Amino acid sequence: MRAVDLIYKKRTGLELIPAELEYLVFGYLRDEIPDYQLAAFLMAVCWRGMTRAETFALTDAMLRSGRRLDLSAFGVVADKHSTGGVGDKVSLVVVPLVAALGVPVAKMSGRGLGHTGGTLDKLEAFPGLRVELSEGEFLDQLGRVGAVIAGQSPELAPADAKIYALRDATATVDSIPLIVASIMSKKLAAGAQVIVLDVKVGRGAFMRRRAQAERLARLLVEVGRTAGRRVEAVLTDMNQPLGRAVGNALEVKEAVSTLRGEGPEDLVAVCTELAGRMLWLAGRYPDLEAARRSVRSVLAEGSALGKLAEMVAAQGGDPALVWEPERLPPAPVRRTVVARQPGYVTRLDARAVGEAAVRLGAGRAKKGDPIDHRVGFVFYRKRGDWVSPGEPLFEVHARTEAEADLAAKAVLEAIGLGGRRPPARPVVLGTVTAANLEPG
Ligand code: URA
Repeated sequence: MRAVDLIYKKRTGLELIPAELEYLVFGYLRDEIPDYQLAAFLMAVCWRGMTRAETFALTDAMLRSGRRLDLSAFGVVADKHSTGGVGDKVSLVVVPLVAALGVPVAKMSGRGLGHTGGTLDKLEAFPGLRVELSEGEFLDQLGRVGAVIAGQSPELAPADAKIYALRDATATVDSIPLIVASIMSKKLAAGAQVIVLDVKVGRGAFMRRRAQAERLARLLVEVGRTAGRRVEAVLTDMNQPLGRAVGNALEVKEAVSTLRGEGPEDLVAVCTELAGRMLWLAGRYPDLEAARRSVRSVLAEGSALGKLAEMVAAQGGDPALVWEPERLPPAPVRRTVVARQPGYVTRLDARAVGEAAVRLGAGRAKKGDPIDHRVGFVFYRKRGDWVSPGEPLFEVHARTEAEADLAAKAVLEAIGLGGRRPPARPVVLGTVTAANLEPG
């Protein structure tokens, strides 16, 4: 077999067989196939797509490129994954919440990517908290606390890490089969029996259009179910940031408020749907509505906050900060920006907000850049809300006055005001389950 022939085959739109995909994945991992050949192949996939059979085979080859965690000693373990958004602190709420209701959660997360935030960066807003855990530490915490969020182990699906870096540098990230193989090879290797996927749709997501996001969700669910896991996907809106806070420590504070029963409506809706489905798929409840009811009552009682404190303590952070998050280090500059004219908020562009947050230092311009956990935004008004002149629109938390000026200007441009209230839009847009998967 020769890589050049397989590139040509894909370029002309023919279907590759599993052995050919395995040759490319393993050849690249072992440095027998150079970057330029795999990059050409990935670009051909972006243009030509992949059949379902090819997507399954690519995922399987990437899964077999490394080790797999065996979680069978912990009973039914759950996991969740988000395709990435702005203000997405759902994992910080859902992981302790599901664990507090008796289902262990083992989650490997990522760092911020482009304009989107990453759970590991948010967790590190707790000074001293470690996210790079060994496999032994990860499993030990899962057994003791029932909840763990750590960085991706380099031994699981190593082909994905190598191919992802190449995709990032060759504009080949946003291809549905490549995204499916990347996400599912890691999720299957991480061992959870139950996997709930949060597929974001809209301006601030990788999938801008609903139809695209649905196609991605269906394939993710199909690949997971074919591998014998209980998998569902929830499609959620990412046209505006989720919740009110964007920026690492600010999002931690909002996650804590949500676990205390004081979360913003859209964030609570997404957390309830995801946590409810994780619990239901784990076999804890007779039906989904019963699982959602339990989630709502634990949120109202605030009884899952202790589980977050246990997680933080187990990973070297100070659990007292979970009870008093106002003690998390603040940004030097905090400014409230008010409306100059009246109107309904018709637009709050998630992508523009995410990019402004990166420029403030909440994310990275390039891999390895340091980030500042203190900076970001808190929104007082979101889409559909009325604002009068002089009333607050949002807060900027910045390192300097000059950075606050630039950020305030960028976010004012990301907000549209109009005379008519825009029609309400739900945050949970739909679900993909075994029952509504398209046949064949
Ligand atoms: N997240 C992943 O893990 N992989 C992708 O390809 C895209 C988003």
